[in-house]
Amino acid sequence: MFDALSDRLSGIFESIRGKGRLTDADIDATAREIRLALLEADVALPVVKTFIHQIKERCKGAEVSKALNPAQQIIKVVNEELIAILGGETRRLNYAKQAPTVIMLAGLQGAGKTTLAGKLAKWLKSDEHSPLLVAADLQRPNAVGQLQVLAERAGVAVYAPEPGSGVGDPVKVATDSIEEARRKGHDVVIVDTAGRLGIDEEMMQQAREIRAAVNPDEVLFVIDAMIGQDAVNTAEAFRDGVGITGVVLSKLDGDARGGAALSVRHVTGQPIMFASTGEKLEDFDVFHPDRMASRILGMGDMLTLIEQAEAVFEEDQKEEMTQKLLKGEDFTLEDFLEQMQAIRKMGPIGNVLKMMPGMGQMRQQIDAIDDKQIDRTSAIIRSMTPAERRDSALINGSRRLRIANGSGVTVSEVNQLLSRFKDAQKMMRGMTGAMGLGGGTKATK
Ligand code: GDP
Repeated sequence: MFDALSDRLSGIFESIRGKGRLTDADIDATAREIRLALLEADVALPVVKTFIHQIKERCKGAEVSKALNPAQQIIKVVNEELIAILGGETRRLNYAKQAPTVIMLAGLQGAGKTTLAGKLAKWLKSDEHSPLLVAADLQRPNAVGQLQVLAERAGVAVYAPEPGSGVGDPVKVATDSIEEARRKGHDVVIVDTAGRLGIDEEMMQQAREIRAAVNPDEVLFVIDAMIGQDAVNTAEAFRDGVGITGVVLSKLDGDARGGAALSVRHVTGQPIMFASTGEKLEDFDVFHPDRMASRILGMGDMLTLIEQAEAVFEEDQKEEMTQKLLKGEDFTLEDFLEQMQAIRKMGPIGNVLKMMPGMGQMRQQIDAIDDKQIDRTSAIIRSMTPAERRDSALINGSRRLRIANGSGVTVSEVNQLLSRFKDAQKMMRGMTGAMGLGGGTKATK
């Protein structure tokens, strides 16, 4: 799922990485690319429109953070808007004040309802509940048997009409099951209902009757994420025909383009509550919009980095640096030291680097980076006098030796640091020039 969309988005972000500044035209072009990517992923048009409108509005708007570069800003906004489209907060199950809580499952045949019933039961059991699975799908020939097998595997109780008992009324089965749950002390009842291959008035009518009879706390519509846009239309039909309180996405492990998953919340107004990702009982979890968004962006770690960068980049430091750049003042060793400390605050440097996009393949080299290197660099700068930190040109041969001795490193390490610092300084000067700040490039010392 989402692979093609993830790739497209990564490509889009890649193309703006390294830009010092984004013009409105850049933002429009990026938004256009994102729009195409979403449409190709089969996301419903109204959802795409809302999404793109928000992206443009926010990226051009005032909420521009100085802690992030333009690419990071766009990633941040896209991530937040994806979370919003997927429903924002994680929606938990509503439990009844008085047991049993009744959860009714609805959806088309083959959507994955019966499988989901088993998964949900197992999940509830592991959370100290005592669920009862109810076979009210008396339409599909083997639905009852399938539910019994799943119940056994999940280690939970099942309520089903005896084979050959002649009980063919799903409404009665569902109603009786609530009594059974009360008698046996089950605190959650999961009612599996019959689906059809397509939307069908008789099926809707039956689902409505079951709903009226058992008064469920949740009516979960199970949607096969593989069937794309159609799934969303079906969800609307069930919402209007039966009434639903939440959506479960099944078959998220498939290779469909993922549009249904991204559209269903917005189109139906109902939250996605669970996700099913395989045929096994364990392939199931609560649906977390934020985790799904970061999976779609394919850069969960990058998002963590953005958050950390924002947290670490303190307001006064930010202001100070901007002022310096505005005045065309030089980037000094003092600033270099501050930056290094900021990086250090984010945690071990290897972890920080691994979070950068594209660094994944370099894990081995990154693991070899010595965290102490950063501390050593800081120690070298601390051994300099304030005048030296302000003006590195003062640092001649004898001063280099003194600094090396003071910080317990070799002269060649001091030399290396100074040369790295000069590169950074040059880059900062370039940025000042490119951004049209300050008095332009200062003469190199
Ligand atoms: P129902 O008619 O809605 O009750 O659907 P079933 O629960 O019988 O599921 C239909 C088919 O989809 C079965 O073969 C299931 O094993 C399969 N299935 C259900 N959920 C998933 C899932 O999340 N991933 C995959 N790959 N298959 C699933």
